[in-house]
Amino acid sequence: MTKTHLGHRARKRFGQNFLHDTFVIDAIVDAINPQNDEQLVEIGPGLAALTEPVCDRIEQLTVVELDRDLADRLEQHPFMQQKLTVYRGDALKTDFHQFQKDEQKLRVFGNLPYNISTPIIFHLLDQIDAIGDMHFMLQKEVVDRLAAQPGTKAYGRLTVAVQQACAVEPVLLVPPGAFTPPPKVESAVVRLTPYSEPPHPVHDFKTLQKLCLVAFNQRRKTIRNNLKKHIDAEQLEALGINPNDRPETLSVEDFCRLANWYYEQHGAL
Ligand code: SAM
Repeated sequence: MTKTHLGHRARKRFGQNFLHDTFVIDAIVDAINPQNDEQLVEIGPGLAALTEPVCDRIEQLTVVELDRDLADRLEQHPFMQQKLTVYRGDALKTDFHQFQKDEQKLRVFGNLPYNISTPIIFHLLDQIDAIGDMHFMLQKEVVDRLAAQPGTKAYGRLTVAVQQACAVEPVLLVPPGAFTPPPKVESAVVRLTPYSEPPHPVHDFKTLQKLCLVAFNQRRKTIRNNLKKHIDAEQLEALGINPNDRPETLSVEDFCRLANWYYEQHGAL
C-alpha cells in the first residue's frame, strides 16, 4: 500500500520510496561531500530529502525528475528555486553530457528507483567520459553484485562491466525503516569512481558487455559451452582460461582479455 509523505502519494510505478531518516540523509551527503566548484546532478530528487541538504552546501544543482508533480514542487520550492535546474525527463533517456559546463566531469548521485536501477547504471556506463563519480542508494543485493568477487553468487555481468570501468566502494547499509513507504528489501549506498586509466583496458566496452551477457547466460554451464558460438576451447586455453570453468570464476581481467581477443579477431560484437 502506498502512504502519503509530505502530502504526496508515493507512486509505485516511479519506484518512489522517500528517505526520511536524517542520520542516513546526513551520512549520504557527507559521503558525497559536495563542493561549490563542482557540477552535481541528482537523479530522482523526489521530495528533496537529499536535494535540500546538498543545496545547503552549494549554489547550483541540476536534478532529473520524471514525475511531473514532483518536478513542479521542486520548481516552486521557496529556498531552492534559485539554486536548482529542474530537468523533466527519464534518466534512462537522458544524455548527461548536456549538463556539463566547460567539459567538467559530473558528480552524479541519487536514491534510484529500484525497478530501473541496473538499466540506469548501464546507461551511465555508456557515458562514463562525462562522469567524475557517482553515489547511489540501491537495493543491497545490487550493491553486493557491484562489489562482488569472482567465484561468488553475486558476481555477474553487472559486476564485470562496472568493475572494468569504476572503483566500487560500499558506503552505508540502510534499513527499510529509513524510507516512506518502506521497501521490502535492505538498501545500501555505493560510491562508483570511474578510473581515469582502467587497470584492465578494453578496445570496445560494448563488446565486453555483450560477451558477458552471453557468458553468464547459463551460469551452471561451463564458459566453453556458453561461449561456443564465439570462441573455441583451444583459444580459451591459449588465453589462459580453463574452458571447463564456470563463468563466475573468471576475473574481470579474464573477461577483458577475452573481449580484446574477440575485438581484434572479429571487430565489435
Ligand atoms: N530522492 C528522493 C528520496 O531520497 O527521498 C526520492 C527517491 S525515490 C526512490 C526515486 C525518485 O526517482 C522518485 O522521485 C521518482 O519519481 C524518480 N524517478 C523514477 N523513475 C525515474 C526516471 N526514469 N528518471 C528520473 N527520475 C525517476
